[in-house]
Amino acid sequence: CGIVGYIGTQEAKDILLSGLEKLEYRGYDSAGVAMISEGELHAIKAKGKLYNLRDKLRGVEDSARVGIGHTRWATHGKPEEYNAHPHTDKQATVAVVQNGIVENYRELREELKAKGHEFVSDTDTEVIPHLISEYLSLNSNSLLEAVRQTVNRLEGAFAVAIICTQFPDELIVVRQQAPLVIGFGQGEFFCASDTPALVSHTHIILPLDNGEIARLTPLGVEVYDFRGERRVKYPQTLNWHP
Ligand code: GLU
Repeated sequence: CGIVGYIGTQEAKDILLSGLEKLEYRGYDSAGVAMISEGELHAIKAKGKLYNLRDKLRGVEDSARVGIGHTRWATHGKPEEYNAHPHTDKQATVAVVQNGIVENYRELREELKAKGHEFVSDTDTEVIPHLISEYLSLNSNSLLEAVRQTVNRLEGAFAVAIICTQFPDELIVVRQQAPLVIGFGQGEFFCASDTPALVSHTHIILPLDNGEIARLTPLGVEVYDFRGERRVKYPQTLNWHP
């Protein structure tokens, strides 16, 4: 239902939480964040309201400079903590949040199970990190390429944000029929499913179009289409009066 993401020089945890608060009005049944610190992925989720997540995050150290967050409106699988996003692959290297629905998740799940993948949730979303890790095992030098191959396998309307421990300086986002906006800071970038989550940080934004993948690093943003062709895009300045 709501997506936020951050990459840069500040501590990710508070930025993710405050971004999720701005998206609360959309309604949700559970929430979670995933962050990378010292090469390890930390995924923390909680059923119910955001203060449950906030409580759990209190003990988590603040050093992560990259992360993603989600508020979920369950479509596939009960509103329980094990179905809350972010979802990961088995080794917990790839973490994914999704808004929308992956319509062909059953076929993908069967295909992945036949390759030895095990699933811990009932969601449509969990196939995404597993597919990414499958493509990474074939071509381990590009997260962007693994995400591109993955989204070409997905049917439905979705927006996705991804982080991966093997690529700690990258945050990848995808838009296919569900909104996703990038926010530009100085040496830092944000993403969200809706602009209210961005405006306290920046008024310089780039809404993705359908069929686009963006790679955010602390140095900049590159946008590609689903065939891997680079797209030239210019951010715009929001005239925002809260
Ligand atoms: N279909 C996904 C799920 O049920 C995402 C729902 C949402 O957009 O929050 O986990």
